[in-house]
Amino acid sequence: MPEFRTWNLDQFKDWIDMCLHCGACYARGPIVPHNWRELPPHEYAAPHKKCPPFEYFKFKNHSPQGRQILASLIFNNRYEIDEEVIRSFYSCTSCAMCNDICIPYQPLYTVLAMRQEIVEKGLEIPSRLKKITDNIQSSGNIFGRKKHPKTLENFSLPETGEDIFYSGCYATYLQPETALASVKILKSAGIDIAHLGDKEGCCGEMLKQSGNMKLFKKTAVENVEKLKQAGAKRVIISCAHGYSTFKNDYTNPHVVGVLPFEVIHITEMIASLLKQGRIRFSKNLNQTVTYHDPCFLGRQGGVYAQPREILAAVPGLTLKEMGRYGKWSYCCGAGGKVTLNAFPEMAKETAKERLLEARAVADTLVTSCPTCLAHLKKTAETEGIDIEIVDLSMLVATAMELSD
Ligand code: SF4
Ligand code: SF4
Repeated sequence: MPEFRTWNLDQFKDWIDMCLHCGACYARGPIVPHNWRELPPHEYAAPHKKCPPFEYFKFKNHSPQGRQILASLIFNNRYEIDEEVIRSFYSCTSCAMCNDICIPYQPLYTVLAMRQEIVEKGLEIPSRLKKITDNIQSSGNIFGRKKHPKTLENFSLPETGEDIFYSGCYATYLQPETALASVKILKSAGIDIAHLGDKEGCCGEMLKQSGNMKLFKKTAVENVEKLKQAGAKRVIISCAHGYSTFKNDYTNPHVVGVLPFEVIHITEMIASLLKQGRIRFSKNLNQTVTYHDPCFLGRQGGVYAQPREILAAVPGLTLKEMGRYGKWSYCCGAGGKVTLNAFPEMAKETAKERLLEARAVADTLVTSCPTCLAHLKKTAETEGIDIEIVDLSMLVATAMELSD
């Protein structure tokens, strides 16, 4: 198996013709990785719909296989990158469903390689992604906000320590209640938690997603250095995107490599604290909930069990799974924030489908990513879908009856 995460475009060129054109990554029906006979049923019972942009556009250029064909033509100098090619490669939500289906190939990494090629050739990327790149460079966050909100001010957290909470752009600026809940839980469990405050910068995920690998690497190196200087031994992250970026991308030998600290998602931390008896619930929630696996925590992070262990431990809570859950969970549509910005209508339609799926089994949808949370909440509001949407950390803080 080639190393597809190297972002070495020359290496990609050697592997670009590997696609078998089997169609398993996007075709309708409950199929099937190539080795399905060797797997238990849940492992190969892929859902009817697989690739959100293909489902929205219903055109093969927006499927994993279609992008493989385009990439092969382009890397073999038989086709030029044009506007439609750029649209095809930026409509991928990075949900990684195709990576779980395709055994000989990892289609998502071809998308990222092609975005890198587009940026390196100086071609126009979708304008809202360009704006986000400018924002990160000028303000250190994706929103271009000049002032850091005082979200965690009440806790007077130190800026140095062995356990550092990394809040990230979405939790800091858009969904501060997720950051607040996480810090309350950690403190009540006796963790001496620190936070970089104004020194915390964007993880750079959007730079990678946009194809700007040079800026991404620079951002990654700076962030790791800041956390190292602050004494971090563990970095605890409540954002699924930040978690995947630190854990999967920073550790790439072409980016930073081995990190001088451990990277932990808040759900892994809460599940571990529960096992140690350091988290106690005092309130019965008496609710039926369903759980949406964020793509960057589930398929891209392998964290499926811990959120469900936490939900099982909360008094009065019943978990009802949607038809598509765990490794076959459908994307919320935010798409690593790329599709949310470049194809907002597609992002909305995908979220709507996921919300209706959740609404069919429960009154409350729980997730563990501030990006999924914000996008699903906004879509439920604009589309009039009556369902409560909460982050798992907020649910845990409520069951623990934690106040400021
Ligand atoms: S990308 Fe993989 S799953 Fe999709 S058509 Fe090609 S070989 Fe088959
Ligand atoms: S990562 Fe998801 S959206 Fe992108 S090509 Fe694969 S299945 Fe489609």
